[in-house]
Amino acid sequence: MGFNKPTEEMLEKLKAAVPGRVYLGEDISEDFTHDEYDVHGHFMPDAVVSCKTTEEVSAVCKLCYEYEVPIVPRGAGTGLSGGCVPTSGGVVIDLQKMNQIHEIDLDNLVIRAQAGALIDDVQKACQDKGMLYPPDPGEKFATLGGNVATNAGGMRACKYGCTRDWVLAMTVVMPNGDIMRFGAEVSKNCSGYSLMNLMCGSEGTLGIITELSMRIAPNPTGTISFLAPFTDVETCIACVSKVKLANLNPQALEFMDRENVASVEKFLDKKVYPDKIDGEEVGAYLLVNFEVFSDDEIDDLLEKAAELFVENGALDVMVYDTPAALANAWLVRGSALEAILEQFELTDECDVVVPISHLAELINYCSALQEETGVAIRLTGHAGDGNVHVSLCVNDMSQEEFEAICKECFDKIYAKGKELEGAVSGEHGIGNCRIDRLEEYLGKEQMDLMVAIKKACDPKMLLNPGKVCYSL
Ligand SMILES: Cc1cc2nc3c(=O)[nH]c(=O)nc-3n(C[C@H](O)[C@H](O)[C@H](O)COP(=O)(O)OP(=O)(O)OC[C@H]3O[C@@H](n4cnc5c(N)ncnc54)[C@H](O)[C@@H]3O)c2cc1C
Repeated sequence: MGFNKPTEEMLEKLKAAVPGRVYLGEDISEDFTHDEYDVHGHFMPDAVVSCKTTEEVSAVCKLCYEYEVPIVPRGAGTGLSGGCVPTSGGVVIDLQKMNQIHEIDLDNLVIRAQAGALIDDVQKACQDKGMLYPPDPGEKFATLGGNVATNAGGMRACKYGCTRDWVLAMTVVMPNGDIMRFGAEVSKNCSGYSLMNLMCGSEGTLGIITELSMRIAPNPTGTISFLAPFTDVETCIACVSKVKLANLNPQALEFMDRENVASVEKFLDKKVYPDKIDGEEVGAYLLVNFEVFSDDEIDDLLEKAAELFVENGALDVMVYDTPAALANAWLVRGSALEAILEQFELTDECDVVVPISHLAELINYCSALQEETGVAIRLTGHAGDGNVHVSLCVNDMSQEEFEAICKECFDKIYAKGKELEGAVSGEHGIGNCRIDRLEEYLGKEQMDLMVAIKKACDPKMLLNPGKVCYSL
């Protein structure tokens, strides 16, 4: 598919539409050529335009549409699937300066903000008002719009669901520049097709989200975490549904195996979790977080949860209930990706999601691949969601060799995930690196349906070409 490059005339019009914030040639930072996983390639855009308002985004889209130049929306570039990488060149619309938090409306439990607001800022603004913005993906310097566009999950998805579940309404600029308002700030809505939900998780291929109204919730008065070490993965994962069935309503239920914990501890240069309990080797851990809304709940929760873990095979239960202890316990889980990126020259990952009852089988299958292929495989999981992050990691290997070995491993992992009735990605999305996998799972008819939806929103196929539902 051939696309135009911006002409001199178009560039002049762009500069007039967004004065002082159109970047060309050497003024374009290298950051804009890739996302967090640069294994998805480096591609130089023809221009980067840093917008501050919906009207500016609309003006840029109108020009791109007229001159038939690709448009790539970009938040903070922390994506892991190549979604914001300008693989066909064109104009990157940088939304990071659209970072205003307009209002926290306590009567309607809504936060209204521009799409470029950082999650960290959104969460802090809510906390300042005694409220909680529940979605909590690992990367706090991602944008709200990026989180909605990828339907980001994170650790609190276990209790609160993913980002999509917290969106009420949004302003969207369509590829031809039209400005639309999807959804409404109401608590129930059955009013035609949900175009708002179509935008959630569409990875910048259907429209550019510029303003968001998100639901918020009361902040808990405190949190308590438990670390439950187990000898093996099966016993560890079998405990997940027991915790849910007991109605303990954990906010987060995370899995790590010993091998991964050991390498994160090496990266942090400190030992945090026990590796042996009464002489028994620990093989896997569940790290569980509970919210409390009054002090009276604490003793009951401590007793019930500890009893449940031990009855279901935990070797011990460690309780973390002070801010310092909590921070320390979650540091290991929170540093998992950072440790991988620091310790290995080449890494790639997938985040297959399966029904919780099949999670242990998937994890053991992936672990076994490590011995079979010699590639280091790091596993962390949002166990409460059946979502495991499988990172393949190597040092001292050429890019070509690594790609070949990744293909071999991913072929097997995705086939296993499909056999276990799972989905291609729990939260990291499809971008430009999992399109074939998506077709393997969904089949051609569903891919064709997605392309038809894409064409209805973007008849010239200019918005983020070659992502999610078709390759170029
Ligand atoms: C350390 C680390 C931890 C992470 N942890 C998690 C996690 O726990 N859960 C999780 O789900 N993800 C996680 N991620 C992945 C990443 O942070 C999320 O995908 C995030 O939502 C991307 O937001 P962003 O602003 O960086 O978007 P970008 O990377 O800039 O873009 C991502 C996609 O969204 C599109 N897009 C961005 N903004 C808009 C917009 N306003 N309108 C339309 N399309 C848009 C882009 O075109 C692209 O396709 C993690 C990443 C890192 C580096």
